[in-house]
Amino acid sequence: MRVLDDVPELEELKNKVSSSFKEYLGYEECDVHIFENSDKNTLNDLANSSFFDRHLMEEMFIKKKPYVKSPNELCLPLECYERTLGVIYFKGNNVFEPERVSLLWAFSDQLAVRISDLQIPRHVSSNFKEKFRDISNTIFDNLKGFLEASIEKLKLLEEQNQKLAEVNQLRTELINNVSHELRTPLVSILGFSKILQRHEISEDLVHESSEQIQAAGARLSRMIDDLIQLNRVESKGWDLNLEIVDLGEIAQYAFEEFAPFNTKNKFILDLGEGDEVTKFDVEGDRKLLRQILDNLITNAIKYSPEGGEIRCSLRKQDGFIDVAIQDQGIGMLAEEKSRIFERFYRAKNDKSKNIAGLGLGLSICKDAVTALNGTIDCDSSYSEGSRFNVRFHAV
Ligand code: ADP
Repeated sequence: MRVLDDVPELEELKNKVSSSFKEYLGYEECDVHIFENSDKNTLNDLANSSFFDRHLMEEMFIKKKPYVKSPNELCLPLECYERTLGVIYFKGNNVFEPERVSLLWAFSDQLAVRISDLQIPRHVSSNFKEKFRDISNTIFDNLKGFLEASIEKLKLLEEQNQKLAEVNQLRTELINNVSHELRTPLVSILGFSKILQRHEISEDLVHESSEQIQAAGARLSRMIDDLIQLNRVESKGWDLNLEIVDLGEIAQYAFEEFAPFNTKNKFILDLGEGDEVTKFDVEGDRKLLRQILDNLITNAIKYSPEGGEIRCSLRKQDGFIDVAIQDQGIGMLAEEKSRIFERFYRAKNDKSKNIAGLGLGLSICKDAVTALNGTIDCDSSYSEGSRFNVRFHAV
């Protein structure tokens, strides 16, 4: 079998197709093989080559199917008016998905028409050849347009595939992280309950074990609550029960609940200067506002393993209520700070890597604050502490 090269346009077409696919779509190879004597070739003649083996020929020209030589190698038949003209061969970096095969197949049909048209002039007069070339050039232009459009579409598919692959990778990482984080407190619960089963243990050990079980159970319950809430919010949105709420009162209740159980930190509620009792009224959902503050206070405690002051300050200024929750804990690196409101993001520096969590609390918090028309941001210095600033419209 010889490749036909006595029609210059054919050679030009082959090169153009081959270089376009390689250049624009990053295919490793794209070859157009055109058979000599395409009217008379038998399957036996064609199957004589090592590349075009019998199986490949049968698949393409008898069963009329694309031939997937290997996951990233694809051969398509070039056929026109029942004539077997050749084969187009692609080698890519990825598996050929069905949509891509269909697109390339449509392209190869167009290419076959063009090849067939270019081959006819070999047998006819030069006058006719001239005319034919004009017609042929028009077809070539159309084909070029089709090729460019196909390449655009393929590029889009390529990008979508890439995104899907990334999402899939992220999903696997998330499942691994979430499973790991859920398993950690469970291991604690199982370990300490085993200790409790022993016959002779001191009262101190009973006390310590049950405290550990309680703490691990609480951590587990918080994580499950976050997951459930995320699921609910993402499927149904926020179900708000709006009323006028005094944020100062909410902060006071939250502190009253946290402070007695936590002796390691010093809690300070700062409601501003002056004797007059200031109200910090906002329009909001009482339960959600409490949850936002609880979340920020829990984080302040959790990320202050060595204790320190936790200060909640409220101010009413310029038509806004500003709430700040400040700790003297481990803080964050600048690049971490910019990502903490992303779903499932967790800073993994030397100080935070052993602190458990799913990386959901702050992203839910931000959604909740936004649902109440507020804003939230964070200032933080590594090793020195963090300050979360929440702002709502005052009423
Ligand atoms: P989680 O605490 O479960 O990891 P969050 O969404 O509440 O999830 O927090 C996201 C990340 O932000 C945490 O993993 C942590 O790295 C960082 N972070 C949050 N609050 C603080 C804080 N007060 N001090 C230091 N880092 C914090």
